[in-house]
Amino acid sequence: VEPSQAVVARIDSAMGLAIESQQQVAIDPVNSSGEYERQLVQLGLRTFAAVPIVVDGSPVGTLNLSWTRESAVDDDVREALDTLAAHLAVAIKNTRLFSELESALAQLQVTQERLVQAGKLEALGELAAGVAHDFNNVLGAILGRAQLLKSCLRDDSLCKNVEVIERAALDGAATVRRIQEFSRHRSDTEYQGVDIADVVREAVEYTQPRWLDRASRDGIHIDVQVECGETPRTWGNPQQLREVLTNLINNACDAMPGGGRLWITSGRCGGGAYVEVSDTGVGMSAEVRSRIFDPFFTTKGSRGSGLGLSVSYGIIQQHNGTIVVTSEEGVGTVFRLELPAVEERQAEPAPPDRAAPASRSAGARILVIDDEQAIREVLADILATAEHGVVVAEDGPVGLERFRSGQFDAVFTDLGMPGMSGFDVAREIKKLDPGMPIGLLTGWGASVDENEMHDAGIDLLVPKPFKFDEVLALVDSALALRRK
Ligand code: ADP
Ligand code: MG
Repeated sequence: VEPSQAVVARIDSAMGLAIESQQQVAIDPVNSSGEYERQLVQLGLRTFAAVPIVVDGSPVGTLNLSWTRESAVDDDVREALDTLAAHLAVAIKNTRLFSELESALAQLQVTQERLVQAGKLEALGELAAGVAHDFNNVLGAILGRAQLLKSCLRDDSLCKNVEVIERAALDGAATVRRIQEFSRHRSDTEYQGVDIADVVREAVEYTQPRWLDRASRDGIHIDVQVECGETPRTWGNPQQLREVLTNLINNACDAMPGGGRLWITSGRCGGGAYVEVSDTGVGMSAEVRSRIFDPFFTTKGSRGSGLGLSVSYGIIQQHNGTIVVTSEEGVGTVFRLELPAVEERQAEPAPPDRAAPASRSAGARILVIDDEQAIREVLADILATAEHGVVVAEDGPVGLERFRSGQFDAVFTDLGMPGMSGFDVAREIKKLDPGMPIGLLTGWGASVDENEMHDAGIDLLVPKPFKFDEVLALVDSALALRRK
């Protein structure tokens, strides 16, 4: 009865008239020249009635009845037919409403799924912001100590171990930042030409505690094979790519609780490079496979975060690459990454000019204000290696007191401190000495308002956790400011 299915009525036929007038039309088909009516006559029918079915003011079709008698439609029949057509109209309307309702529901479900996904991301962002501050401080202490230790070590193999700690702390800090970026869709990462085979080797080395040390402690054997063929250089962030591979290797190890074979290959494909991480582990069902890139999706209970693959997915997308999985339950899993090769026009920036610490300025007097003991001590120790004199203070008021009673060349202050913020401290110091360079210690979690920074007279940003060389370089810039 839907319009598309209705008999197309000629305008001069009884049906056409009924539709046009929105009135019931009853005729003797003998008196009509229409094709349909002619067929009725052949069947011996002598009364034909077309009753319009009107839904929301528009006719959607006609109810057609025929009789073998002549003039079969009297007032009673006419009324009954109008009533029947009205009922049909209501039924048709309800059917339409129902299908509209169904498609609205389907749309609602899609929207709801999107909202849930967005909600997950928002929760993730809040969670990350909440832990970022503490996490950065913990990592800052580890990193600072590792770097200090490295500067006093002469033994190469010890140095190598400390470097692993250092890199782990830096990667950890970058992870916090990336989780936040991932939920904010913001990216300010630095890209460079990357030899993915190097990244693979680093990730393998980096995960050794997992596939070798822990495996042998658990009495199992994971056979690791790395085959890096000729692999074109790709454009990306080595730290992020290392994290992706680390995630894939850790997942593969998790999938082989009884041991097995883990092999990683890389090489050339199409216009870029590929890396495959394969395991002979438990594999995944189709259901699991469809959800592995969702944030928080894990089959590992409280042992899993469900973030490894969602973060990896985000990273690979930002790199304009692809990540695909093939897996069979009880057989194993293969993750394949493909990354575009470096393009000619992406000229690689010259490596940063790392002046040897010895050539740096030494002997400056620096005030460090931070409410976290571990942080101010690490910073003080880093500065001390360049023979700067350091005075520390645990909050704003104490810092100002020390500033008034001493002679300083630069001040480093934390931003978030109870009572007096880093901005307040900076304003007070600039009142006392407008030319004093001030560095603001910021967690990666905090985004600093540039205007506010400018108003408070902050000259430099010092991101936590500190990188040894960067801190010393920043001190040099602060001293250069001082001399201007
Ligand atoms: P997590 O490792 O914290 O669970 P991930 O995002 O890294 O979070 O992985 C999500 C889920 O994907 C895992 O819980 C697991 O079910 C599945 N998975 C990932 N890698 C593999 C693999 N190599 N073999 C089998 N299952 C895997
Ligand atoms: Mg994981």
